[in-house]
Amino acid sequence: MCLQGEGRLLGSLAALGVAPENIDMVINTHLHGDHCGGNTRYNEEGDLVPTFPNATYYVQRIELADAMFPNERTRATYHRENLEPVDSVGQLRLLWGDTRLTDEVRVLVTPGHTPAHQSVVIESGGKTAVFLADTAHWPLHMEKLEVLTAYDAQPLVTLETKRRLARWAIESRALLIFNHHPDGMAGYLHSTDRPDRFRLEPVAL
Ligand SMILES: [Zn+2]
Repeated sequence: MCLQGEGRLLGSLAALGVAPENIDMVINTHLHGDHCGGNTRYNEEGDLVPTFPNATYYVQRIELADAMFPNERTRATYHRENLEPVDSVGQLRLLWGDTRLTDEVRVLVTPGHTPAHQSVVIESGGKTAVFLADTAHWPLHMEKLEVLTAYDAQPLVTLETKRRLARWAIESRALLIFNHHPDGMAGYLHSTDRPDRFRLEPVAL
């Protein structure tokens, strides 16, 4: 699950003029293979190494425990090669709950998809955005809270997490970023006349 070749992650960074050595922080929202497969890559000697040699990689402590000791349902998505090369060189930092990482970036534990899944809140220039990761894949998942994905480890916990997030996002006027949407969709949530329904106002990224 590690990076093979340039791929989309490094290619997209290169297009922005950012080299892997320039990255100083990697936040793993959780350790499913499709969310942390870019943590590591093979170097020219064929060794598995951190993709970002100068970065500190952050993950919740309980998420690491779940990845290290998966069960029958989760073992297909947790891969030690995404983690051990990072940990072995001292670049992995465990977080114990909600944590502020910089003046503008903090993580919020948003359990349900996994017990210690975290979302990333960015507050800058008087504006707020939240990278939802797998708390909500598509706008529909925030517009109708009862719509859940089959991948959630704790679906009813996801439901309550989304309810809290929805209220907070409306109060904070936070931009929601849906990373699984094919168009990289984002938008602002609005309440409706029903307590269990919301409306997303899409915003072009
Ligand atoms: Zn996931």
